[in-house]
Amino acid sequence: MKKETGGNEIPAFLTELLYRQYGSAAENILRGYVQKRPVTLRANLLKTNLESVEKALSSLGFHCERAAVPFALIVTNASEEDLSRSAPYERGEIYLQSLSSMIPPFLLNAQEGESILDMTAAPGGKTCEISALTGGKAFLTACERDKIRFDRMNFNLKRQGVPHVNTICRDALMLDDFFRFDKILLDAPCSGSGTITVGERIKISEKLVQNSAILQVKLLNKALNLLKKGGILIYSTCSVLQTENEAVLQTAFKRGDCELVPPELPFDLPRLPSTPNTICIPPNELYEGFFTAILRKK
Ligand code: SAM
Repeated sequence: MKKETGGNEIPAFLTELLYRQYGSAAENILRGYVQKRPVTLRANLLKTNLESVEKALSSLGFHCERAAVPFALIVTNASEEDLSRSAPYERGEIYLQSLSSMIPPFLLNAQEGESILDMTAAPGGKTCEISALTGGKAFLTACERDKIRFDRMNFNLKRQGVPHVNTICRDALMLDDFFRFDKILLDAPCSGSGTITVGERIKISEKLVQNSAILQVKLLNKALNLLKKGGILIYSTCSVLQTENEAVLQTAFKRGDCELVPPELPFDLPRLPSTPNTICIPPNELYEGFFTAILRKK
């Protein structure tokens, strides 16, 4: 019998699941799993702008192209290691981040003065992005339960120059229900079914999918408890499986106090079939597989 974890081949259970969920569109996902993507980055608008980053990187020999996400670049001739040795990286003017993972903070549409919780936040890329998109004028709380990842997040937030941020090393399920936030990002821990690369170690298993879904349901329920009435919650995962996405949202709708808000983006994204008013991105030559949805608390 084929082993289902820790190998570098796509496990049979996942292929079956993808065909069951997507029919022939599963082939797009399986093709995406063999793609090597170029490095992508976000210009840190707290410190600089896209044009300056483009200029600085070009002068160092990096070949940059504009991405659809308005503050992002695709670097076609370098690895993450190359970029992480560059001066703009050292100065926190850029953050290496997949294009897909830039979408949830963008959809959060954070505004000056809002109190925002990034509930499972390390290593902090999305916290930094939320701050940058408000010009550093939102009040952020970034929660992470893993101490090593928490320390890494603090390092990143500092290097990126994120102001008004309170970091908490705690299980988000234990946050005091007394708190209320205007907006919450729940970028949930997941099986990573959207980020698989054939040839690299694949750690997805049926158990991981099931356990992720159980935790996601609990975290989403907690997030809704912590959200103000009328507040906005972004739910996202780097999984393309319904079990971790739509099925998790269904449990939240049973509470009767939240609804989906249609996501509006000023640029196009590749899409997989998903529930109306949700976004599911297939893995391809540019994007990692990703799911995101906007909820409003009634
Ligand atoms: N949003 C992050 C970013 O863009 O940099 C990535 C977040 S990652 C998908 C999920 C994180 O949730 C992991 O760092 C994991 O350690 C953390 N986590 C898992 N369960 C948690 C819990 N119960 N409370 C707080 N953090 C948790």
